[in-house]
Amino acid sequence: MIVFNKVSKIYPHPTHPVTALKEISLTIEKGAFTVLMGPSGCGKSTLLNLMGGLDTPTSGEILFNGQSTAGLNDREWTALRRADIGMIFQFFNLLPMLTAQENVALPLLLRGEPAAETRKKAEAALKTVGLGHRLDHLPGKLSGGEMQRVAIARADAISPKLLLADEPTGNLDSKTGQEILDLLTTRTKEAGLTLLMATHSQEAMAYADQIITMKDSEISRIETR
Ligand code: ADP
Ligand code: MG
Repeated sequence: MIVFNKVSKIYPHPTHPVTALKEISLTIEKGAFTVLMGPSGCGKSTLLNLMGGLDTPTSGEILFNGQSTAGLNDREWTALRRADIGMIFQFFNLLPMLTAQENVALPLLLRGEPAAETRKKAEAALKTVGLGHRLDHLPGKLSGGEMQRVAIARADAISPKLLLADEPTGNLDSKTGQEILDLLTTRTKEAGLTLLMATHSQEAMAYADQIITMKDSEISRIETR
């Protein structure tokens, strides 16, 4: 589903440019759960951001379903993301002024779906993650685990093909983290999604089809189950 072909990312700086990714080559199979491991600063978030089209590589090629993304402009990337890619982050990235239901509905509204329909879909997605009783809550009134469930519902509601999760349990206690991990892996299997998760969690590795370990901006190991 996704192929990286010698992808490098250098963050420019007048005196100290940072090489965040050095000629990364990898393949993510459709429907697979891939775990991305490695110490802080090794380039995991950069890799996920490139995969989600939030940033572009300095060199190399990224293929999405066999098609090069090199020619996509911002608008085309946004359309691809809204159609096919859900993203989940360590700090949830919910909008604080919007209720849980409004947060989940927003990406659907942004891609032009009728408001009434987006509200229904958001409610259904929140019920799926066990938050049917929290529709009208603002993020500030929710626990960390609940906020991450809202973020999962938001990603899930667009019916993505690819789910990118950047340390989704990194800011949660271990019990809540385990619940979020279970929810994510169950949802992705049910929906036949492709999941790429950056994590330090040992538990996540037990569920993974593929484990990619990074070190110093490079892949040091790829293990396939
Ligand atoms: P990880 O997610 O594995 O902790 P990151 O991808 O966030 O790693 O960062 C990889 C390297 O790139 C780090 O050295 C980080 O400081 C640097 N970096 C990340 N984002 C930027 C940016 N926007 N500008 C400059 N350097 C960055
Ligand atoms: Mg990171």
